[in-house]
Amino acid sequence: MQTSDPLLIEQHIRKDFPSLELQVHGRPLVYLDNAASTFKPLPVLDAERSFYIEKYANVHRGVHHLSQEATRCYEEARAKVAAFLGAPESDNIVFTKGCTEAINLVAQSWGRRLEPGDEVLVTAMEHHANLVPWQMICAQQGAILRIVPIDEKGQTDLEALESMLNPRSKMLAFCSISNVLGSHNPVQTMIRMAKAVGCTVLVDAAQAVAHGPIRVTELDVDFLCFSAHKMYGPTGIGILYGRRELLHSMPPWQGGGDMIREVDYQVTSYAEPPLRFEAGTPPIAQAIGLGAAVDYLQSWGWEIIMDREKALYQHLQVVLDSIPDLRKIGEATDRSSAQSFLLGQAHPYDVGLLLDSMGIAVRTGHHCAQPLMKRWNLPGTVRASVCFYNTFNELDYLGQSLLKTQRMLGHG
Ligand code: PLP
Repeated sequence: MQTSDPLLIEQHIRKDFPSLELQVHGRPLVYLDNAASTFKPLPVLDAERSFYIEKYANVHRGVHHLSQEATRCYEEARAKVAAFLGAPESDNIVFTKGCTEAINLVAQSWGRRLEPGDEVLVTAMEHHANLVPWQMICAQQGAILRIVPIDEKGQTDLEALESMLNPRSKMLAFCSISNVLGSHNPVQTMIRMAKAVGCTVLVDAAQAVAHGPIRVTELDVDFLCFSAHKMYGPTGIGILYGRRELLHSMPPWQGGGDMIREVDYQVTSYAEPPLRFEAGTPPIAQAIGLGAAVDYLQSWGWEIIMDREKALYQHLQVVLDSIPDLRKIGEATDRSSAQSFLLGQAHPYDVGLLLDSMGIAVRTGHHCAQPLMKRWNLPGTVRASVCFYNTFNELDYLGQSLLKTQRMLGHG
């Protein structure tokens, strides 16, 4: 994009996303549920469509032209993701159904090495996706799941983490950005702390991947995962980045076609990673869509995306701070993109429904973080989450609509 005029940039961005033109309940849609999933830009939709029409076949198994072509596109998408993350090679990237499946893969494959009394640490702000798989494998192996506390603002207690880490700590799994609180975890620091006691680290980058650069080699992280649908890509696809020697040391967790080297009736030898972890026909078109989403993000560049999102998030704070009797949940010094709140005594669900009737999509409920809600004794929250295609006008409209909601609920 040649211009530096913010309004022209905004118009251009919004033209890429036809869904932003939708009307809901007769009003222009204001979509503030980006932490749950983002809309898809035309280049991503076009990439999937043209693959299905022009290059479609199953991958890895055919000698015919289309199968070769499909395989090339699928592997090209893997290479794009590897470059996007600064991974040493494409083989560090395993395609999965999403972030949840990537964490389950690590828990059920890497996790088999856990011994009774070993410890797995997660923070108190984790999404169920980064909690339940660890509960399951700890129960299977007799390992202990330990919860690293967070403070009242919603920040990981690093002193507590330091005191919890010990030679029995085998895995530290945490989100880089909380989907409920928007809090940023100090990823580099936490990785260093874990490494000091020989603890393996998994970073759940689901909420981070669309908002800024991630360099896995510089981070020195062992595993990192995300879902494409939160970064303008399709649903049904995500990735696990794994350090080469770790992936090679891990057994497969699902068996079937594509993950084998040689099969006999009684025994099988397995393919090298990443195919070892990709049993069955993979989500081919979705992987290609993910590759297109990477290209799309890079076509705008992080500077434009991050500048816009920073300004939008600051404006969201100004708008929310101007609403009487609104209580923010999550006030970490370093936070972005998502903000949870409560409106007086109103139930989050009622607020969400009224906002919806005004055309505004926000998320309400526990946000797949029930233990966090229980810790703060909350029924749930309302969560507004922005990304670079949102506008300042939309946020002003959110403010007016929250005041109207308060009046309608008799709280204003
Ligand atoms: N981790 C975090 C922090 C999330 O926000 C989410 C989804 O909201 C997930 C994991 C799970 O992602 P998915 O449902 O796409 O697998």
